[in-house]
Amino acid sequence: MRGLMQDWPLLCHKILDHAALHHGGREVVSRSVEGPIHRTTYSAIHSRARRVAKKLHANNFGIGQRGATLAWNTWRHMEVWYGLMGAGGVYHTLNPRLFPEQLAWIVNDAADRMLFVDLTFLPLVEKLRDQLKSVQRIVVLTDAAHMPDTPLDAEPYEEWLAADDDFAWCAVDENAAAGMCYTSGTTGNPKGVVYSHRSNVLHALAGNMPDMLGLASRDRLMPVVPMFHANCWALAYVAPLVGASLVMPGSKLDGASIYELLDQEQVTITAAVPTIWMMLLQHLQETGHELPHLERVVIGGAACPRSMIEIFESRYDVSVLHAWGMTEMSPIGTICTLKPELVDLMGDARLDVQEKQGHAPFTVEMRVTDDDGNELPRDGKTFGRLKVRGPAIARAYFGNEAEVLDEDGYFDTGDVAHIDAHGYMRVTDRSKDVIKSGGEWISSIELENLAMGHPGVAEAAVIGVHHMKWDERPLLIVVPKSEDAPTRETLLDYMRPQVAKWWVPDDVVFVDEIPHTATGKIQKTALREMFRDYRLPDG
Ligand code: ADP
Repeated sequence: MRGLMQDWPLLCHKILDHAALHHGGREVVSRSVEGPIHRTTYSAIHSRARRVAKKLHANNFGIGQRGATLAWNTWRHMEVWYGLMGAGGVYHTLNPRLFPEQLAWIVNDAADRMLFVDLTFLPLVEKLRDQLKSVQRIVVLTDAAHMPDTPLDAEPYEEWLAADDDFAWCAVDENAAAGMCYTSGTTGNPKGVVYSHRSNVLHALAGNMPDMLGLASRDRLMPVVPMFHANCWALAYVAPLVGASLVMPGSKLDGASIYELLDQEQVTITAAVPTIWMMLLQHLQETGHELPHLERVVIGGAACPRSMIEIFESRYDVSVLHAWGMTEMSPIGTICTLKPELVDLMGDARLDVQEKQGHAPFTVEMRVTDDDGNELPRDGKTFGRLKVRGPAIARAYFGNEAEVLDEDGYFDTGDVAHIDAHGYMRVTDRSKDVIKSGGEWISSIELENLAMGHPGVAEAAVIGVHHMKWDERPLLIVVPKSEDAPTRETLLDYMRPQVAKWWVPDDVVFVDEIPHTATGKIQKTALREMFRDYRLPDG
């Protein structure tokens, strides 16, 4: 017997229809790439997204074809994102921080037909144009007045848009591709993750439940996480889905610019990687500014240091939502909100929970296994391979339909983690970053978080370096703050009482800068290369 409910496909552009109809007047504020603050509404974005779709259709852009964007978070990027899907196409967000050769490789691999580019990245596209074999048309996300001279055969977006919005979204299956995002490719070439309409809609619904992101129409959300990073952490869907106002930061992501928007636009919730929040906190410390409007900050993409959680919550009265996920998971895997049995915890016991990456929403099945695939106990200490299963989790990569799942249908995240009895997961490492000392594992992330707790440490990274006796031992690499810079000994003395003796790093080196990946994470591969020949004191 079959159910007798309507066949209502889960399509991403229906989210924008809903926003226009029920929250049409809600504001979308952007710092434009040209400079001034721009204000629009969901209703206007809906109309202009249909003009995008109408023009794509007129340009013979067919179902399933890819349109790439090389752009910051702005209202125009939203219009293109939804317009591409509404035309039956697939948005493909490009990360401009990747190496140019990698970008060209990705565009060709995805066979992108259209390229929408911000003014900032036009010089990059001019250099790469000859290598972008599949791209037939380039549209610059600006108006005629700001269109620079360019050797490219490119049009300004405002001129390119169709003259009216008289267009019905193309009918596609809910399992059709809607978006693409490539992984950063720290090993080998980047891999294309392909989201479907259905996976994006389910993921936005699940990721926004009350114990997850929990956004509501009264919220004013600023996604500092770029739309090109891991499907924008679902935020380009969640905000219109609930009718929350959006504040888009454009190209300026420094502490002062972020603070200005948080304050002037009375943002209630914002999201980004820890590096962004380090810059904001430094700015606040230097200027003495406060965060009276901000209620919640989502911190993910890399482990959030304990000290950062403490400063946001105790000093600025902003709740931290520590989040974990990955491009292949659309990307939300877990969010750390406090369940009722933990909500009364105070002080260190509370931070011990908040430092974890959190618990999973419905639609994410999560478990930890040993190398043979046996599930490990949920005891908050036994760690192993973290594996996930669900309707918004990749089963294969673009161009290769072969499934990348284990025999139980789980995707191996490449993270090492443990899960506790309450369901809270803690990432202890990437499997390739874990330090193997005498056959035992040492968590580089835990040591980094610990070092970051020292008031004189601006940033810390821990890598394993070769050791004659133990195979590998931890080396702590630190960017000191200009004031209160610690010495090797004061730092190790600070760490000693807080970790097992054999976890204490064998040495500390001070550097001016730690290299980061295109998505703002510590680039361990580069550090390992830099310290390849490093000799430990007794190594
Ligand atoms: P990229 O490298 O392009 O940023 P992803 O966003 O997909 O790609 O990276 C996912 C990985 O980032 C995860 O597998 C995990 O190793 C790491 N990560 C994400 N969030 C956290 C977190 N809160 N704590 C620790 N690691 C995290």
